[in-house]
Amino acid sequence: MNKDIATPVRTKAILDKYGFSFKKSLGQNFLIDTNILKRIVDHAELTETSGAIEIGPGIGALTEQLARRSAKVLAFEIDQRLLPILEDTLSPYENKKIINSDILKADVHKAIAEEFAGLDDIMVVANLPYYVTTPIIMKLLEDKLPIRGIVCMLQKEVADRIAAKPGTKDYGSLSIAIQYYTVAETVMIVPKTVFMPQPNVDSAVIRLIKRAAPAVTVKNEEFFFFVTRASFAQRRKTLLNNLTSQLPNGKEKKEQIISALEQVEIDPGRRGETLSIEEFGKLSDALYPHFVGQL
Ligand code: SAM
Repeated sequence: MNKDIATPVRTKAILDKYGFSFKKSLGQNFLIDTNILKRIVDHAELTETSGAIEIGPGIGALTEQLARRSAKVLAFEIDQRLLPILEDTLSPYENKKIINSDILKADVHKAIAEEFAGLDDIMVVANLPYYVTTPIIMKLLEDKLPIRGIVCMLQKEVADRIAAKPGTKDYGSLSIAIQYYTVAETVMIVPKTVFMPQPNVDSAVIRLIKRAAPAVTVKNEEFFFFVTRASFAQRRKTLLNNLTSQLPNGKEKKEQIISALEQVEIDPGRRGETLSIEEFGKLSDALYPHFVGQL
């Protein structure tokens, strides 16, 4: 077995060898604890026929663990300075491909088709750059990639919002957007001490397993997401107040909004945070005929 990258001594030696300086703007907080990395990979339940996609390999700490536990790792790294380092640190592993690209601009479908032919179980496993966690997760889900799910490290505060249940303070349009596509669960809370440099916020690992079909079937997805965002526009306001102020011409259409709420038996005085995803589905379908083509 090769020596692990993710120890404080080895990480420091690699950084010194290349004179690498961290870029805070790229969310560069590297993991220096092999046990944590192994536990993250455990949660992905990979086999020797799985493909693993990593976002932001850094100096290869997680990439190495993924290469040992999967058929192949495909990693997207935005920072060109890391490419020669990865070439060196991951030289013992044949089953990896590093793509120098911003994940938000990458054609991941194409990369999967090129790199993972014949592999039918694909998981995304990453220690995400914290400045851009939500756009990355949303892109991976909205692109409807052929993946089983995502296991990723992110800020604990965002993990709490993603996995939140109705009726809690963290529940909001982000919980619904992600739980629409996946079953979401926080699987680890991670201390700051396992990173170099240490981030300012607490971290957690979430596991998102894609549903076979979205949690609710709605007439129009875009309108459903609009209604959920509108319902949380001002958390202290009632559903009726938020909907009338956020929907197009909502004030003039107050009667139609009330009648849609009555039709699906949702009290207009409730707050958005009390509605389940199924209730949001019914509500959005009842409102939709009044707002077709108006978004
Ligand atoms: N995986 C490594 C680890 O766990 O030690 C590094 C994780 S570090 C939190 C985030 C990594 O994502 C950095 O290597 C950073 O350069 C990279 N990164 C930042 N923004 C990115 C983007 N938009 N696309 C791809 N990689 C990005």
